Amino acid sequence: MTARMAEKRAIITVSGLVQGIGFRPFIYRLATRRGLRGHVKNLGDAGVRIDVDGDESAIKLLLSDLVEEKIPLAVYNKIDIDWRDVGEGRIGFIIDTSDIGANEVKHSLIPPDVSICPECVEEMQDPGDRHYLYPFTCCALCGPRFTTIVDLPYDRERTTMIDFPLCDECDREFNDPGDRRFNAQTICDPTCGPRMTLYHPDGSIVQGGDPIAVAARLLNEGSIVAVKGIGGIHLATKTTDDGPLHVLRTRRRKPGKPFAVMSPDLENVQKYAIVSETEREQLTSLARPIVALRKREPFPLSPLISPGLDTVGVMLPYSGIHHLILYHVDEPALVMTSANYPGEPMFVSNEDAFKKLEGVADYLLLHNRRIHARCDDSVLRVIDDQPLFLRRSRGYVPLPIGLPFDSRGNVVAVGPELTSTAAILKEDKCYLTQHLGDIESPESLDFLSVAIDHLVKLLRVGVPDIVACDLHPNFLSRTVAAELADVSGTDIVEVQHHHAHLASLMADAGVKPDDEIVGIVCDGYGYGSDGSPWGGEVLMGGYEGFSRRGHLEPQPMPGGDLCALRYGRMFQGILYSELPKDRLAQVLYESCIEGFQRGGKEIEAVFEQLEKNFNTPYTTSTGRLLDAVSCLLGASHLRTYEGEGPMKLEALAARGRLRGGIPVDVERDGGDLVLMTSKMVGALLTMRAKHRAEDMAYTFQHALADGLAEMAVTVAKEQGIDAIGFTGGVANNDMITRVIHRRVNEE
Ligand SMILES: [Zn+2]
Ligand SMILES: [Zn+2]
Repeated sequence: MTARMAEKRAIITVSGLVQGIGFRPFIYRLATRRGLRGHVKNLGDAGVRIDVDGDESAIKLLLSDLVEEKIPLAVYNKIDIDWRDVGEGRIGFIIDTSDIGANEVKHSLIPPDVSICPECVEEMQDPGDRHYLYPFTCCALCGPRFTTIVDLPYDRERTTMIDFPLCDECDREFNDPGDRRFNAQTICDPTCGPRMTLYHPDGSIVQGGDPIAVAARLLNEGSIVAVKGIGGIHLATKTTDDGPLHVLRTRRRKPGKPFAVMSPDLENVQKYAIVSETEREQLTSLARPIVALRKREPFPLSPLISPGLDTVGVMLPYSGIHHLILYHVDEPALVMTSANYPGEPMFVSNEDAFKKLEGVADYLLLHNRRIHARCDDSVLRVIDDQPLFLRRSRGYVPLPIGLPFDSRGNVVAVGPELTSTAAILKEDKCYLTQHLGDIESPESLDFLSVAIDHLVKLLRVGVPDIVACDLHPNFLSRTVAAELADVSGTDIVEVQHHHAHLASLMADAGVKPDDEIVGIVCDGYGYGSDGSPWGGEVLMGGYEGFSRRGHLEPQPMPGGDLCALRYGRMFQGILYSELPKDRLAQVLYESCIEGFQRGGKEIEAVFEQLEKNFNTPYTTSTGRLLDAVSCLLGASHLRTYEGEGPMKLEALAARGRLRGGIPVDVERDGGDLVLMTSKMVGALLTMRAKHRAEDMAYTFQHALADGLAEMAVTVAKEQGIDAIGFTGGVANNDMITRVIHRRVNEE
């Protein structure tokens, strides 16, 4: 009788990411271990309910187990406990799988793709296991999710795994609550699951045994192999030999764009790159992103992987396919670069792979599972010891980002033009789509629509209350916004590009709805409130509005967008009013001639353009300024990929030291602060007599960061604001970020 006195009933409700990730079997194991009776059940919108009877102390232990032994992917938003008296006696513990209505799933989180877990890798390597060498091995804790989900609720019928009915053995595991594959929607084995096939480009099958082992042998021999993975298709080739990389670059017409590589393990990564503790955590995280790492010197792999850069993008294998290829390959790393074309979305069907990769891939290693939601690899870089997304996609999408406020309605935002993502705001969360690339072609516009529609469907958003787009009048994404607004009868809200950056930074930092901050927002281009091209801005404001308080000196862009492609033009524009024409011409011919597509003829034409002020908009862009300096210092001349000028300048600066000689002058133009950049660039000409290019690159970046910080600190002091942030594409520059951070903290 006394023993029973201590018995209690507890109804525990856990909300957050607790569905589709093996959560209920996890609870089953915990509850049975503690000798508790009752059940666990999915509630859809409200998460998961655990209803248990038993010794009060055992229930308390269950609660601490729940937190301490949390399965990797689970995210708890809230755990509620309702203590009651024990009612009718219950026997044993069960997983209640009774159906939940479709209308109940509206708030449940959809899991992202998860890298293969160590237990599944072990099975793949065990000759006694039926998953031996089977590349699609996964369990309740791991495997593809988002890329396979067609609709909700999340079960096999509504994923691309519907094409592969479970065999008896898999079915038994699926229905056994004690099995780690219990209720796992994407499980399969060699009997019932998808298969890899290695093809010649003409579609005929390459004979000779296990397709992955054969592909690996061909990679060892220097072939270029297309590999279909989880969310898309990679082009793979070896990294210890320049030959195949040279062929790949020629065939893809990508002379300089950095390629990502994949290594079998950390030990191999450390042979060619330096890995900090934070970087190690990111590399080995469940999402397995590409992490930009500092190259070792001398760099033992081919210089053609990321020419002219001091970093290399590295990832670890995230699916069985990758593990098995790398297992058979004798290389410390393989190039694994996305097979899509710039400005076009990733193609994912086998049919398209043959068409698009004709003349590019020597072989195609494909499988017969459809990719429903294409999803590129995520890319991040550790800046000032903080991980920073350059691209948030596979492994993270569609997990939301928490907002420090409640949205007044459902908002669909269609994103900008370059390296775009769209977003949905719902309640206190922001859901980003996967990386969409540049929205500049009809194909990419389609992808934008499809990605938004899919997320709207999965989140049960219905008709949006507000549609948001960039202020730019000619961005293609505007047509998607117009269609959405038309269909739903809602208004379009136009958002200035740099204000969007500022607001994102505020949300990331948890700034409250009514607070204001000062933001330094630096990138290549954004349509300004006054219609001119902005990109080096000091803004003050909050979520709802902003004012421009400072910027870089507006510089002429003779020929407009041509300046973004030919860095010599920008340099010429910046120094046009700073130097006598003869002197400038001399510098251009001596040091910048490679920054013009048509050499001296172009230089003369640009002079004429500047004299007549013809087709010469003025920009405050930081990207263009760094392009110009990159050109003068010989780091890069003509753009072959987005961001090349600043990235190569940063690589040059990484080997430099701080010198003196660059003036940091902030002047006032009306109410605005202006950092005088022509003088800064002009000073480099004097420095050249005494200093190395590396030191000048370092010193220039340092001075620029100082100037930006000085403007922001001045505004913050004048306006009585105590928070300053730095964001935009230039915030991917580690050194500029560090200098601004230090400078702001000092004040
Ligand atoms: Zn697993
Ligand atoms: Zn099976």
